[in-house]
Amino acid sequence: MANSIPADLDTLLQHTGIGEFDPVHGAAPVALPAVRTSTVRFQNLDALKRAQQAKAKGERSVTYGRVGMDTHAALEDVFCKLEGAERAFLASSGMAAITLAFFSTLNSRDHVLVADCCYGPVRYLDKVVLGRMDIEVSYCRATPAALKAQLRPNTRVLYVESPGSLLFEMLDIPALAAFAREHKLILAVDNTWGSGYIYRPLELGADISIVAGTKYVGGHSDLMLGAVMARDPALIQRINDTHYAMGYSISADDAWLAIRGVRTLPIRMRQTARNALEICDFFSSRPELVRLYHPALPSDPGHAIWQRDCTGSNGMLAVELKLGDAAAHRFVDALTLFGIGFSWGGFESLVQLVDHGALDVHGYWTPSENAIVRLHIGLESTQDLIADLSQALDQAAAA
Ligand SMILES: *Cc1c(COP(=O)(O)O)cnc(C)c1O
Repeated sequence: MANSIPADLDTLLQHTGIGEFDPVHGAAPVALPAVRTSTVRFQNLDALKRAQQAKAKGERSVTYGRVGMDTHAALEDVFCKLEGAERAFLASSGMAAITLAFFSTLNSRDHVLVADCCYGPVRYLDKVVLGRMDIEVSYCRATPAALKAQLRPNTRVLYVESPGSLLFEMLDIPALAAFAREHKLILAVDNTWGSGYIYRPLELGADISIVAGTKYVGGHSDLMLGAVMARDPALIQRINDTHYAMGYSISADDAWLAIRGVRTLPIRMRQTARNALEICDFFSSRPELVRLYHPALPSDPGHAIWQRDCTGSNGMLAVELKLGDAAAHRFVDALTLFGIGFSWGGFESLVQLVDHGALDVHGYWTPSENAIVRLHIGLESTQDLIADLSQALDQAAAA
């Protein structure tokens, strides 16, 4: 398996953003408090001037509360450690982080290539906002050959998500990075699936990594958060300026919750990944099973890339079942331990009956009448989850 995560990442996640010692008392809290502020005040005009000069150079210097003080800085540090980035910029949701990446890199009349397996709301952003700004978008299978056919003289950005939404199509990020370099494109990757812990796109050649901290980083289904990470100084400056100009901001309390959540990211991720494999095993024994979508399974077409580029997997999987529409509805409604809901990455199991319309735009999908059910496997006992899935499948068949 790839060895791109430093062996000490588990350690770093426990020791980044802890409380500083008080210079008078020599004591410190382990947990950094949530430093809430709108106004930042300065000791004298000289101190203000130094802060303004540092800020003008693109350094993380605070003159006003919008970018946040110590708690925000600590969370940015956590994201940098996770992703192997130089700088991280926080946004109020994963979707806001995506818009930050787009607005930082695209000008009016530019063209962006978007992987057809992307998170669905990106298409909504395109429809509602990007079109109005004269930014052209093409959706495409994210392979160099397919992308090449869609290149235009004004193509600036290649935006992908790996593994892709809904069916977890693994993309070859190193190959896409080589393609992007050859054609002078900025490669931006939505890395919510990996959240820096099991997958590190910047180390595989991407220019920008985007994470919805709402998912595994927060980890408790109680906060909205996004982050944009980069290494290149010129790119960092553009994101920095756009971030400030557009007013992206998060509350200190949400930053604090995210830091608290990330302490247990390693054990949550390992457990949810283990649980998901057990659920896959269960489905393999069922007559309704047509196919499992989960890159950690040797049967998955993306398994070799996953083995090469990832250091683990997570609790997400999709299962294709030989169930008609009514039976699929009965199955989902009969589940008692799986919440019917969007999002994932929390402690609890979730189920989503995937709309075929959402799959038709994915080149990876082979159209069929089968039901596609996306599951997030949480931290419950797998014995209980399997009993629940089993009784629900029986109910689906019984009617
Ligand atoms: C949830 C999600 C987002 C958006 O995050 P929000 O915080 O819900 O806005 C973006 N990308 C992926 C892959 C996601 O799963």
